[in-house]
Amino acid sequence: MPERKRHAHKGNHGRGLVIGGHAEMPGSVAMTASAALRTGAGLVTAATTKDVIPVIASHCMEATYVTLDDTKGFLNDRTSIPFDQYDAVVLGMGMGRRPETGKLVERAVNETTCPLIVDADGLYHVKPLLNKLKDRTHPVILTPHPGEMAMLLDISVRELLQSPFSFTKTFAASYQAYVILKGMVTIITTPDGRQLVSTAGNQGLAKGGSGDVLSGITLAMVMQQQSLTDALCNACFVHGKAADLLVEKTHSVYDLMASDVIAGITDVYRTFA
Ligand code: AMP
Ligand code: MG
Repeated sequence: MPERKRHAHKGNHGRGLVIGGHAEMPGSVAMTASAALRTGAGLVTAATTKDVIPVIASHCMEATYVTLDDTKGFLNDRTSIPFDQYDAVVLGMGMGRRPETGKLVERAVNETTCPLIVDADGLYHVKPLLNKLKDRTHPVILTPHPGEMAMLLDISVRELLQSPFSFTKTFAASYQAYVILKGMVTIITTPDGRQLVSTAGNQGLAKGGSGDVLSGITLAMVMQQQSLTDALCNACFVHGKAADLLVEKTHSVYDLMASDVIAGITDVYRTFA
């Protein structure tokens, strides 16, 4: 873990942007933004629709908000986003699969000059853009669960899970992307073929919102001063370990919720901070 220096100010810990949400799925962006702040991000901005902001602002008071234009509640690309103001961007959670939203994802792929993390519906939109990822000068990190990874590869989940390491390695090399393939065991793959495994976490995480929390933790880790591979490993570890400590101490694998995992990041940090 990078040291948090005594003389630090918020600008030293990254300015992160979270893009996602639609009228019927407001909470995911809030969880990603909260998780990023709890993990140590200096400043987090949530960019979402005008319907979503009032729903989530009271749940994530430390974030700032940008209203993006929408088409019937779904994000479109009509608002210009000053991407150069951010140290890392995460997009996809709860954004839906409308074509208008795909144009926004395309702009982010083309215009961000910082690491770009793509999760959830963002992965669906990034599929037709995969060949563009190689042209980026800044890294892209894809965080699929097996269903999303199989969708990206045009294979079945069953096929993917027979050889998850080799499928992911070939994919990461082809598109020069970092891949976090999530599951009971999570495989982190770098574009140059390194593969690392996180065994932290438990079945309490098998619940809506868990992936949104990992995205936020990943955003924060990527913005700290450390190698990108270390950042991704730290993110998976902190996410899983928070769930493990909660299930050991105060919760069970049944009642654990994604918002508990955000609060549980505290316990992970306190074991070594
Ligand atoms: P998502 O499917 O996008 O919500 O992401 C789920 C998150 O929870 C990922 O980080 C998974 O690795 C984690 N997760 C889900 N189920 C389990 C499980 N049975 N054991 C450990 N981690 C899990
Ligand atoms: Mg997900």
